[in-house]
Amino acid sequence: MAKKKLHTGYRYCYCFAPTLLCKLVDIQNFQPPTKKILVVDDNPQNLNLLSTVIQRQGFQVCSATNGKLALKVAQSGWADLILLATKMPEMNGYEVCEQLKATESTREIPVIFLSTLDKVSDKKRAFAVGGADYISKPFQLEEVLVRMNNQLAIVEAKQKICQLNLELEQRVRERTSKLEQVNKKLQQKIFRFEQFQKTLLHLAMYDPLTSLPNRIFFMQRLNNLLRQLEQDREHLFAVLFLDCDRFKLINDSLGHLVGDQVLNEIARRIESCLRASDTLARFGGDEFMVLLSELSGIEQASFIAQKIQNKLQLPFEVKRHQLFISASIGIVLGTRDYKLAEHVLRDADTAMYQAKINGKACHQVFNLKMHRNASRRLKLETDLRLALVRQELAVYYQPIISLDTGALLGFEALVRWHHPEGNLVSPGEFIPIAEETGLIVPLGLWVMRSACRQLSIWQRKHSIHHLKISVNLSAKQFCQPDLIEKIDQILQETQLDSQSLKLEITESAIVDNAESATLLFQKLRQRKIQLSIDDFGTGYSSLSHLHRFPVNTLKIDRSFVDRIGKDGDKSEIIQAIVTLAKQLGMTIVAEGIETPQQKDYLRVLGCDEGQGYLFAKPLSTQEVESIFDNFDSLSLINAS
Ligand code: C2E
Ligand code: CA
Ligand code: CA
Repeated sequence: MAKKKLHTGYRYCYCFAPTLLCKLVDIQNFQPPTKKILVVDDNPQNLNLLSTVIQRQGFQVCSATNGKLALKVAQSGWADLILLATKMPEMNGYEVCEQLKATESTREIPVIFLSTLDKVSDKKRAFAVGGADYISKPFQLEEVLVRMNNQLAIVEAKQKICQLNLELEQRVRERTSKLEQVNKKLQQKIFRFEQFQKTLLHLAMYDPLTSLPNRIFFMQRLNNLLRQLEQDREHLFAVLFLDCDRFKLINDSLGHLVGDQVLNEIARRIESCLRASDTLARFGGDEFMVLLSELSGIEQASFIAQKIQNKLQLPFEVKRHQLFISASIGIVLGTRDYKLAEHVLRDADTAMYQAKINGKACHQVFNLKMHRNASRRLKLETDLRLALVRQELAVYYQPIISLDTGALLGFEALVRWHHPEGNLVSPGEFIPIAEETGLIVPLGLWVMRSACRQLSIWQRKHSIHHLKISVNLSAKQFCQPDLIEKIDQILQETQLDSQSLKLEITESAIVDNAESATLLFQKLRQRKIQLSIDDFGTGYSSLSHLHRFPVNTLKIDRSFVDRIGKDGDKSEIIQAIVTLAKQLGMTIVAEGIETPQQKDYLRVLGCDEGQGYLFAKPLSTQEVESIFDNFDSLSLINAS
């Protein structure tokens, strides 16, 4: 054991410092340090006696004969407990204790007073200056030892509590730091999640191309407005349904990239016509919706629609292309009669559809008649789906006559619908519905199959193999990739020579689907199937434009024929068409000849063939058969 020499005033005092050594020994052999007791008394006899006894009990003892020395020893950190006499010269025990308690390093050392004074006031003073215990002299050594051990145990317990507290604090600090880290990570996660949620919400509510609100957003806005209207009877609003006219042409000819840029520019132009309180949304494709939430009257909505149309009329400059756009706009005036946003939209759509029918590039305000028409259309659509299955459709045949000889050259197959309610529905009414719904594809094939089969029968029965059948082909049918296989199949099935089949296609259908048309026409040509341009003169194309297609026949539209001999006669146009078509090696058929004058005039102009009520209306199979039976000659006599 290391011995440390301490200055003790007039005498030396030895004490043992096992703590120093303790750090060097192996932890398993660790013994708790011997407690160090500082005994302070100016009486050497008392001091010796007490020191010896205590030392025998296994304590380390250091003795001091005055207060100053005692303070020095205590401040050196040596004492675990101090036994302190009260009465001493220079500095009494109370003063020593006061100083010990006033000093940070010695404050915690328990002090037990040993005193000959036994008054309560002395004891009170001893405790008042911070004494831990008080033993009156003469004392029993056992009592001193018990009290010393008590105090040491208290100190130890305090230290343990302190240690535990420190450990606890450390643990709390560690946990707190861990929690802070976890919390930070969690915060970051929440932030990322919120950002993600915002992006999702944006994607769900906005159109990525134009950054405009989308359908969902618009419908929410409209529904909210309808709810507000329940309280506010006076409030007026309007919805504008805008659909670009022939936008597909831009996408098909210049590509989707240009199409997208134009759509963006359209969005910006519409926006520039609106007020902050209005909502503009893109519904997809070339459809836009405007909600005019505060409105003075329908005139204001029409004014804004016109403003938009004027803005869209200005040329669009995209990638060195100058493009012209127009739009059809349906307007519906919102009142509190509307309960559902879907109904407002439905009516705006109906009005827009009417604007298209009215010639596009215009706006149309919704009215109830339109709704009735739309309902009728819907009913027709449903009935039409069933018509094919229920075999309510029939093919009628309108003769096509040589204007020169009056001979029958063939027929145009025209579909008829015997509606179950008893009336005959005109193709002018149901063909557009069939085209819109795609029903035209099975319907068109059915007509083609029926007509080919019928002509094949007639050809064989009456040995009239030169007769041709003209079948109308809708634009929708073009885009069917398997159309040519279907035609092959029909010809094969019906045993009709491909040269006996003529397909009638309108010029606008060809122009709108130039790519698929070119491909299809090549295949038709290989099979020697004839091609006719229907309703010529009503579309936008020029003859020279159509020349690149292998067209055999040109059908002059009825509207030109109808005017022959009337005011505003367009005979020069017919003349020009005939001359040019002749140069291009085409046959010319005039549609809708109703009078002998028209027939004669057209023949003189150079028209080859004719079709119209003058010769015959479209006839049922039975009617055609009775004509065949009644005429030996295959010429139909000129009605004049
Ligand atoms: P379109 O191809 O121009 O057919 C000629 C239309 O003019 C027929 O009307 C015919 O009945 C009518 N017409 C013929 N001669 C005269 C006349 O002298 N005076 C008058 N006022 N009209 C005459 P329809 O049968 O009502 O057909 C209307 C349109 O429906 C057709 O016009 C055609 O575009 C379409 N269509 C008819 N059947 C079919 C079909 O099977 N498939 C397709 N895709 N379209 C068809
Ligand atoms: Ca036709
Ligand atoms: Ca026609």
